Amino acid sequence: MIDTYRHQGLRKLLVNGLKDRGISDENVLKAIGNVPRHIFMDSSFLEFAYQDKAFPIGSGQTISQPYTVAFQSELLQVEKGMKVLEVGTGSGYQASVLLEMGAKVFTVERQINLFKSVSKFFNKYGFKAKVFNRDGYKGLPTFAPFDRIIITAAVPKIPDELKMQLKVGGNLVAPVGKGGHQTMVRLIKISETEFDEEYHGGFVFVPMLPGIE
Ligand code: SAH
Repeated sequence: MIDTYRHQGLRKLLVNGLKDRGISDENVLKAIGNVPRHIFMDSSFLEFAYQDKAFPIGSGQTISQPYTVAFQSELLQVEKGMKVLEVGTGSGYQASVLLEMGAKVFTVERQINLFKSVSKFFNKYGFKAKVFNRDGYKGLPTFAPFDRIIITAAVPKIPDELKMQLKVGGNLVAPVGKGGHQTMVRLIKISETEFDEEYHGGFVFVPMLPGIE
C-alpha cells in the first residue's frame, strides 16, 4: 500500500475539518486519521480522497462522505471488542473505520459485484471484517445479537428484523426517510420490545435496494 506523507498530511487536515464540524469522539477521529481512504477509491479519484465529499464507487453507489462516516460512527458509541453489523458495505471504508476502532465487524452487501470487489480488497490489505452477500433488510440472524447496528443506505423505516438482532442496551444508527433527504435516527433498545428513538439531523444517502429473494 502506498501511503505517503502527503496522504497522511491530507488526512490530518481532514480530521481537523471534522473537529471543526463538531466531531469530538477521539476514537473516531483517530480511526479516520489512521485509515487510508485513498485506497478505497478508484485511482482516477485519488486526488479527492481527503476532501470531505462522497464519491462514486461503481454500480450506482458511493463511498460515504467522511463527515457522515464520522457522524454515524460517533453516534454508534463503539467500544473495543463490540460486535457490529453494518448494512451496505459499499467500498468497505465505514467498515474499516469501525475495525480501526476495535470492533468486530460483520458487513452485508446486496450487490454481488461490490461484494466480490470488497472481499478481494479486504483480503489484499488484511482488513478483518466479515463480508456477506446478503439482503440487509434481513440482517445476519446466525451471528445475532449485535451490540451495534449501522445502516449506510436510506431506509423508509428501520426493519423489524434488524431491531430484533440488536442486544438490549445496544443501539442502531440509520438514515430514515424517502426521497432525497433522510433524518439520522439512533434507536436505543431498552428492553426486548421497547426502543428509544432520537433524531440527529438531515443527511442524504442512496436508497437501500429491495431484497434479493
Ligand atoms: N458504507 C459504504 C457506503 C454505502 S453506500 C462505504 O463505506 O463505502 C450503500 C451500500 O448499500 C451500497 O453498496 C449498496 O449496494 C448497498 N445496499 C443497498 N441495498 C442493500 C440491501 N438491501 N442490503 C445490503 N446492502 C445494500
